[in-house]
Amino acid sequence: MSRESKAARVARMHAEYAQLCEEIPDPQCALNFETPFQLLVATVLSAQCTDKRVNMVTPDLFAAYPTPFEMSRAQELDVQNLIHSLGFFRAKARHLINLSMELVSRFNGEVPRTMEELVTLPGVGRKTANVVLGNAFDLPGFPVDTHVIRVTGRLHWRTDWDNPKPDPVHIEREITQYFPPNEWTNLSHRLILHGRALCTARKPHCADCPLNTTCPSAQFFLSAE
Ligand code: SF4
Repeated sequence: MSRESKAARVARMHAEYAQLCEEIPDPQCALNFETPFQLLVATVLSAQCTDKRVNMVTPDLFAAYPTPFEMSRAQELDVQNLIHSLGFFRAKARHLINLSMELVSRFNGEVPRTMEELVTLPGVGRKTANVVLGNAFDLPGFPVDTHVIRVTGRLHWRTDWDNPKPDPVHIEREITQYFPPNEWTNLSHRLILHGRALCTARKPHCADCPLNTTCPSAQFFLSAE
């Protein structure tokens, strides 16, 4: 596999992605939301935390603070109380109030629709911005999370697959060049879902994986079983 040409790697990538599309025909965002603001809030809350836990706190949070206008006037302690079951709840409460104040003062209470503007908001990094662009606005967005990093590495979809500390922005740029922009969000969803279901962090389930005949890492894991 180490001598695989770029053309062969890209062809394999597309074939493996076609397989993932069959396995996961209708991928969905795992965070519950109804408005771009709610998705922005949920995504900020999801840092270092599972989507499931976030979905448990957001109904009460969204009921108390449905728009940036209410959230910008919230007391930090009140927000903390609503999200205290999540990790880093103090910092997250502060981010939510500060980003809401920014949305009100700079964007008339609307969530902006560009990467450049989104990443100027407190607590919003490139990954969060990509989630919002792709899922709230149907614009090109390729969120790179821990699952995307792991799965694209094991599949050798990225050239720095052996880098123990890869740069998510580099991964985003490298992988997206091989897929049409309107596919980026579903591509990310499918990699995340595949990483959760089969290509798990500790012990991937290669024997059950539909990609095990072409995946460069399959033999290593299968022989270790
Ligand atoms: S074969 Fe194994 S390592 Fe490769 S993608 Fe599937 S689960 Fe992951």
